Amino acid sequence: MSFESLGLAPTLLRALAEQGYAEPTPVQAGAIPLVLQGHDLLAAAQTGTGKTAAFALPLLHKLIDAPATAARRPRALVLTPTRELAAQILDNVQAYGKHLRISAATIFGGVGMGPQINALRRGVDIVIATPGRLIDHMQQRTIDLSAVETLVLDEADRMLDMGFLPALKRILGALPRQRQTLLFSATFAPEIKALAMQFMREPREVTVTPPNTVAALVSHHVHPVDASRKRDLLLHVLSQDSRRQTLVFSRTKHGADKLVTFLNASGLRAAAIHGNKSQNARTKALADFKSSRITVLVATDIAARGIDIDQLPMVINFDLPMVAEDYVHRIGRTGRAGSEGMAVSLVSHDESGLLRDIRKLLKDEIAVDDVAGFEPSTPLRLDAGAPRPKQGQRQPRAPQRTQGGQSQRASGQGASQAHRPHGHAQKQGGGEHAAGNRKRRHRPRPAAKA
Ligand code: AMP
Repeated sequence: MSFESLGLAPTLLRALAEQGYAEPTPVQAGAIPLVLQGHDLLAAAQTGTGKTAAFALPLLHKLIDAPATAARRPRALVLTPTRELAAQILDNVQAYGKHLRISAATIFGGVGMGPQINALRRGVDIVIATPGRLIDHMQQRTIDLSAVETLVLDEADRMLDMGFLPALKRILGALPRQRQTLLFSATFAPEIKALAMQFMREPREVTVTPPNTVAALVSHHVHPVDASRKRDLLLHVLSQDSRRQTLVFSRTKHGADKLVTFLNASGLRAAAIHGNKSQNARTKALADFKSSRITVLVATDIAARGIDIDQLPMVINFDLPMVAEDYVHRIGRTGRAGSEGMAVSLVSHDESGLLRDIRKLLKDEIAVDDVAGFEPSTPLRLDAGAPRPKQGQRQPRAPQRTQGGQSQRASGQGASQAHRPHGHAQKQGGGEHAAGNRKRRHRPRPAAKA
């Protein structure tokens, strides 16, 4: 199949050729014709499969012929859960639309409103926004959404799950009822899908791979380790190839900062990206990582949704995510667009229950192998009653040296008896502003500003 056969405009085809895209990915081949035909669409595609182009290309195509509205009000709105993802989508839209006279802009928090207001005044065809700042503009009447023909919810499950539902409903209320709605996401839990159906019209579905699977080219490894020795094991794994670009996931923002301090003190070039950093610091950390100025980026789950780095070879879970689906998103940062990737998880005994959930979700045996010299004092438990980190438990503390130089377990092990029923996990630092307790998965939290 070729992009030509999908009926896209020659100006778009030229830009795609310049991008080096030879043929559509499966989600693009499935979604683009349906969007061009005007259908609402629910697309479940694993991360790194070309989802952005699957909605951006038909969106641009449809805008080419349609006349601009008076004062160039936005005709397409793309909503994303994180600022980084919004910025990345803008980059893609600009690359695909480089031969077109279609303007696009991002609207998100953490940066001044002035330039966004000026851009909106000049006229923007495609707005790519996070919900919180978009609502600020709606309240200040600096944006008029009454001409929006197409709404895209990217990472739709996360949008709803991160507590954006009230914000989303307000935004939906400001959009014309007659519009096309496209939902893209790597994972679709049934309750999220049911919710999405409420504001879509007879959506067609495109599922290119079963939801909740990770890229086939990623090899998964679990290294059991005592919580107190995780930092040392991380350093050991990173030191095996100190030039390799590695994304490390930490469960908490504070933990991410502490890891960066430790890694920098150990001679590695590392930076952190999480919701407590200023937007400037986040943008700089990501840019430095993309340009290889730093080799280790330590992130909370916010980064799982916004980072597209060509051929990122390795993702390390310093902590396992509290919600198994987040593993899919984290790992989706590697093994993208046909390249191979490696996912390494450093798992302590108290995380056994989380690992069990992940293995269940992936329906896959993840290799569990000890690293010589780092064998844990308490083995992992993968049976039904496997322990989970205690509610409110923090990052494992630094190893405490005894006089004899032996490491002692600093924390975490005491939590091993805290059994928590599935779905009652607490997630720490899981999203842009996800600090709240997650009593039940998918119950929206209060609206978060991105
Ligand atoms: P996405 O899933 O949209 O984040 O895309 C993942 C990566 O695949 C990005 O780096 C895209 O530039 C790239 N990509 C998207 N579509 C294609 C295609 N048809 N051929 C080659 N690469 C693509």
